[in-house]
Amino acid sequence: MIDLPTVSGDLKIDLHSHSNCSDGALKPDELVACAAAAGVEVLALTDHDTVAGLELAQQSAGVYGLQLVPGVEISASWHAQAIHVLGLWIDPASPQLMSMLGAQGERRQARMRKICARLEKLGLPGTELLAAVQASPGVPTRSHLANAMVAGGHVNRADDAFRKYLGAGKSAHVAPDWPALDAVVGWIRAAGGVAALAHPARYSLSAGARRRLLTDFAAAGGTALEVVSGGNGAQHAESLAALAVKHGFMGSVGSDFHSPQLTWNPLGRSLKLPDCVTPVWRGYINK
Ligand code: AMP
Ligand code: MN
Ligand code: MN
Ligand code: MN
Repeated sequence: MIDLPTVSGDLKIDLHSHSNCSDGALKPDELVACAAAAGVEVLALTDHDTVAGLELAQQSAGVYGLQLVPGVEISASWHAQAIHVLGLWIDPASPQLMSMLGAQGERRQARMRKICARLEKLGLPGTELLAAVQASPGVPTRSHLANAMVAGGHVNRADDAFRKYLGAGKSAHVAPDWPALDAVVGWIRAAGGVAALAHPARYSLSAGARRRLLTDFAAAGGTALEVVSGGNGAQHAESLAALAVKHGFMGSVGSDFHSPQLTWNPLGRSLKLPDCVTPVWRGYINK
């Protein structure tokens, strides 16, 4: 059974997770059931560029007595670097957000077609792989394509697909054309949400560039840094907490859960926010 430390108080909080409405393995209701079984009491569903799973997750949260935070993880661009911004406590019916996410879906489809065309040129069955991605649930991501490449026997593991073909600088990589960071933060705020910078340690940026990113994120209206993230590794929490305090950000915690098969990154584990940072959930969650 999963070991579950508590998060600064009694509640177990996980503000970053994916369902099969994007590149997660579980349906939204299965995800909520899995979180409840792991002792998570507050869960944000934050699918990539879609809010399609929130309604079912919300219903399921009612059944399991878990607080569901309506969220989304939006891909943005900052100086040609892809940056992920979490929108927490968003109104999924916000017209601006809905129209923006519709455009994101089209960008994702177009990018997927280009990547598959490159694979075809490299001698792989790009057309078949595109059809497999389009037949799978969820807004298309490179994860879907990597899984289709595993299923087709073209690579052994999803990670190999990224290392050989899909990762930055690899033979089938296509640079994304995500909207600018400040626009993305604006849409989250227009939807009544709080913007948190996801897994800040995962971007390949110099210390100076990271400082500039945080300054720009704050100027755009960003509220929090994801100080503790399954996608960061625990060793970054203290330094990210110090950065958050220095830049005046609140702190968030999230597993970035994608699949129960990734057993080293379960829902709700090791999400202790350092005491020096104000929790982003203050004012939203009664505890
Ligand atoms: P996209 O948003 O289409 O660029 O796809 C990015 C998604 O691919 C991320 O959300 C991760 O879930 C996944 N991903 C990125 N790099 C890797 C990797 N090396 N191995 C497995 N999955 C990855
Ligand atoms: Mn993902
Ligand atoms: Mn991310
Ligand atoms: Mn994520």
